Amino acid sequence: MFVKTPLITKYFYPSLVWKKDTDQKKIWITFDDGPNEKVTPYVVNVLEKFNIKATFFVIGNQAKKHPELVELIINNGHKIGNHSFSHLNGFCTNNNKYLEDVEKAKKYIDSDIFRPPYGKITPFQIKNLKKEFKIIMWDIMSWDFKENISSNKIYRNVINNVENGSIILFHNNLKSYKNLKNSLEIILEKLKEKEYQFSTTW
Ligand SMILES: [Zn+2]
Repeated sequence: MFVKTPLITKYFYPSLVWKKDTDQKKIWITFDDGPNEKVTPYVVNVLEKFNIKATFFVIGNQAKKHPELVELIINNGHKIGNHSFSHLNGFCTNNNKYLEDVEKAKKYIDSDIFRPPYGKITPFQIKNLKKEFKIIMWDIMSWDFKENISSNKIYRNVINNVENGSIILFHNNLKSYKNLKNSLEIILEKLKEKEYQFSTTW
């Protein structure tokens, strides 16, 4: 299981944003999936406690069900990104269907950034979506959605790998809720102690 995105993947997809190019102590925190009525308010609260701004790549389907949660995210100063309408895997989906699904999500998500579900996207899909979106991947996967992972492991995944320009991936769904409750605060505390600043400018 990869925590750091392998170089080979970055090499094959150079037009995607894997990490920001900066000399400054700046990092980008991201939460995928959701919004979820339990997890999103929790995450927003924790971020507020630490005065940290983050980017939420939300699913259109969920945003449609919970417009109030999308508003909660935006009203708290965070950024919203498109994560498609029905969370399709780009490798196993017909191109037109995939592009239509992202298009459909635009009705509920007003954003110029996109993150492909599962990080799986084909060159054709990239070429088309790049006309409208900056496509954002990540360089650090927290593995917060993994069952039976220890909070210490999630902590180490992030803290031992973070560097200037890192894009860190967490989730904003029920699968990761328990793990987030055990690890998010100690991770954010450590990142603050290391004097990182948290950007949402893509
Ligand atoms: Zn996702």
